[in-house]
Amino acid sequence: MKNGIYIVATPIGNLKDISERAKDVLQNADIIACEDTRVTKKLFSLLGLNTRKKFIRLDDNTESEQSKSIINMVLEGKSVAQVSDAGSPLISDPGYKLIRLCKKQNVDVFVIPGACALICALQLSGLPTNSFMFNGFIPNKDKARKDLFESLKNINTTLVFYETANRIEKTLKIAKDIFTKREIAVAREITKIFEECINGTADELLCHFEKNPPKGEMVLMIAPPNQPEAQHIDIFSVLREKLKNTSLKSAVKEMVDEYGFNKNEIYNLALKIKDE
Ligand code: SAM
Repeated sequence: MKNGIYIVATPIGNLKDISERAKDVLQNADIIACEDTRVTKKLFSLLGLNTRKKFIRLDDNTESEQSKSIINMVLEGKSVAQVSDAGSPLISDPGYKLIRLCKKQNVDVFVIPGACALICALQLSGLPTNSFMFNGFIPNKDKARKDLFESLKNINTTLVFYETANRIEKTLKIAKDIFTKREIAVAREITKIFEECINGTADELLCHFEKNPPKGEMVLMIAPPNQPEAQHIDIFSVLREKLKNTSLKSAVKEMVDEYGFNKNEIYNLALKIKDE
């Protein structure tokens, strides 16, 4: 095994999602850098891998300091496998600082791909996947959540966030006012027994979670503003109607506020209708 850093994905729920290559690397690496040594040792046991090797901690608090010593180990000829508690390292998980430093110091980096909650969720969602924007975890404070959603609402792409069961309802209540009629998908317990992906407007999802209290790990996704299936409206007719009763500027503003459409696109459409 060549010396270097190996970024190794581990399962997010189903043990069988570990790859043969991941098992080889974890078995043969000299050192395992992980978020929580207990979690990773448990995974090693379940996979029948050798637990009697060096496990070192690389978490958000220790990453800056540990990265330097991990790189020194590689420069001394060791191979280091980096894992997080579950899923793909570096994606809302530690590892970015380490890999950044590797690039600066010309240390070899290899990736061993596997489960990633963000990608699995998108695949389950039925929302557009040709363009998406991953935003990591949604902030905890209401104002920060609202500001984040406001800053993203007109971006013409599927928005993806990591979320937790105990915060999803608060988040949907805020999303309701900002993304009004947009289709939202919540994928939870991916690759586990109760895997599901529920789609609807924020209001519909709130109703769902009232009847079925949210549980488990989840990913929240919001359809792009101009996704026609999500709108269930005839943009031309609605805009034409508005233009009969109000100024072009106000009609455009209403379309953006009510349906989350892209302002420039609606403005150009309004100009065309005016020219008809
Ligand atoms: N790096 C990991 C990845 O990309 O797969 C994610 C780690 S992040 C600390 C944990 C978050 O990922 C959870 O709060 C949840 O939003 C999402 N997640 C992880 N496993 C999941 C699962 N089985 N089902 C749904 N979401 C999951």
